[in-house]
Amino acid sequence: MHQFLPYAWFQGQCVPFEEARISIATHALHYGTGAFGGMRAIPDPQSSGSMLLFRADRHARRLSRSARLLLTDLSEATILEALTAMLQANKPQQPIYLRPFVYTSDLGIAPRLHDIETDFLIYGLPLGDYLSPDGVSCRISSWTRQEDRSLPLRGKISGAYITSSLAKTEAVQSGFDEALLLNSRGKISEASGMNLFLVRDGQLITPGVDQDILEGITRASVIELAKAMQIPVVERPVDKTELFIADEVFLTGTAAKITPIRQIESTQMNTDRPVMTALKTRLVSITEGRDTAYEHWVTRIPIA
Ligand code: PMP
Repeated sequence: MHQFLPYAWFQGQCVPFEEARISIATHALHYGTGAFGGMRAIPDPQSSGSMLLFRADRHARRLSRSARLLLTDLSEATILEALTAMLQANKPQQPIYLRPFVYTSDLGIAPRLHDIETDFLIYGLPLGDYLSPDGVSCRISSWTRQEDRSLPLRGKISGAYITSSLAKTEAVQSGFDEALLLNSRGKISEASGMNLFLVRDGQLITPGVDQDILEGITRASVIELAKAMQIPVVERPVDKTELFIADEVFLTGTAAKITPIRQIESTQMNTDRPVMTALKTRLVSITEGRDTAYEHWVTRIPIA
């Protein structure tokens, strides 16, 4: 049983988690017409009275844009105000994962996005490591990542996660930890809930935003950081076989942070990962508010 934070944001205010209830007829429940975010907040190691949110502005922007793709309005300011109110109500003492969600809250049937009520909620829960920091085994999924012409992939749309769910379960039930999905053109897109990077001959490579990936905020941060650290970065289509001969392969995401891939199908990957390790060390110090050059990536929210 999950241990949720005692207060959720629901229908424009903070309410006890158990009181935030929706009807079984809720439109989004049937049609997948919601969009969500996923953010981490950690207690500020420098001050017991505040929480640190990594790239809160980017997360709010992506959710606001996801809402727009579902033809509804949700401003970045509304999201940030609700996150702040929710953290201040809960005063968490441990690292947490925050799940904001915008969805069609209407009770009428028929798939549509016009003439429909929407709502916005947030809940939170403590979250440690989502994937083993020592590395994961991956299988190439038999499921293909959707195309942007059938689903707005620039948003984190709930309905898209049926493919992630099928791919993850297929991987786990065949003895692997994670799934890597190809796109409809047969190139690598991403994992079930993470973006993918590889290192070949000192160059950091990741599928571009035209490869049907989610525009991950950790991904964008790793790219920016690598450039600042003089690591050459290229965004380009990635073939499946490149993974097997890569020097390093790793996944990025808010939940997964930076997680190495130790095995793909039956191929064992290198355990020596200098590029990933350098990026991870730097990213951890940034998220903990210890890197003055990247203080602007961290929002400090007073909760005392
Ligand atoms: N791809 C998918 C499908 C995801 O669900 C996520 C998690 N949000 C990511 C990539 C990584 O995105 P981010 O770094 O913004 O968490």
